[in-house]
Amino acid sequence: LGPTITAGEILVEIMSTSVGNGFLEPMPLVGPFPSGAPAIFVDQVARLGGAAGIISAVGDDDFGRLNIERLKRDGADVSAIEVLPDAPTGSAFVRYRADGERDFVFNIARSASGQIRMTDAARALISRAGHVHVMGSAFAIPGIGRILSEAVASVKARGGTVSFDPNVRKELVAGQGEAKKRFDEILSVADLLLPSGEELSVAAGVDEEEAAVQALLSRGLSEIVLKRGALGSSFFSRNDRGDCLAFRVDELDPTGAGDCFGATYVTCRRQGRSPVESLRYANAAGARTVTRQGPMEGVSTFAELDRFVEENRLEA
Ligand code: ADP
Repeated sequence: LGPTITAGEILVEIMSTSVGNGFLEPMPLVGPFPSGAPAIFVDQVARLGGAAGIISAVGDDDFGRLNIERLKRDGADVSAIEVLPDAPTGSAFVRYRADGERDFVFNIARSASGQIRMTDAARALISRAGHVHVMGSAFAIPGIGRILSEAVASVKARGGTVSFDPNVRKELVAGQGEAKKRFDEILSVADLLLPSGEELSVAAGVDEEEAAVQALLSRGLSEIVLKRGALGSSFFSRNDRGDCLAFRVDELDPTGAGDCFGATYVTCRRQGRSPVESLRYANAAGARTVTRQGPMEGVSTFAELDRFVEENRLEA
């Protein structure tokens, strides 16, 4: 089994510890925390003992070093992270509003992450890979679509598999039309789709859940795993369906839940575990993540997930 790989943004996240509207006045902040949905995903795969690597870029600065050191420590392959001398590592500032929504200030397009390109190291990683995970957020980066298409084609040609998490964040997707085209392209080759919220109906072009699932399965996907936040998750395949309630936890910081969930599901399935067992581990990984502050601070090992499942009950 070759490594699970992805390509996309690496950032630091700095968050406000106060609740309010935006960043228009001084406020207490915590961070920097390593972040970027693709980086969180890869780190979580590595923490579970899976081979994992990321194609990305950081600046020659402490924010970049923080990310590379964390990924390395957790066992991820960092050989295809390019260190650029002239661009800073990307950053995101996050602040909660009273209604639970979040305000963001992103610095990605003009950061090193905005300049991710196909390097020899990236080609080498792709040539070893057994699975490509594509994340919607990465499509905001110019040129990333081509890198991901090349990775997908190469892995598929060698009998590998592809998963797709649309994780569309409206702040990040400038060209909606372009994104839709990329999404349709990936959907036509993906084996596993991991949507949350409206992403299922948007991907299918059908509103009702069951009809949307059937429409997508008939287009070639073999599994769909629907993330339902504090309501848990479900998996669908042509002949089977399973649901898992969420674990009852106090949510401190939801960032990273979907990425850790997806990484855990993909890793479990690649290890040959059943969809039901994989879903339970993924639910535990997502729930455990929301109990930690910082997007990558809640990544789990199997031992931590087993302990979490023992100590926490499913929502009745
Ligand atoms: P995304 O971040 O992609 O929108 P979700 O918010 O649905 O994904 O989170 C992914 C998974 O993490 C959920 O399906 C669930 O299993 C778990 N999870 C997320 N939030 C909570 C929560 N508040 N309580 C328990 N589990 C949660």
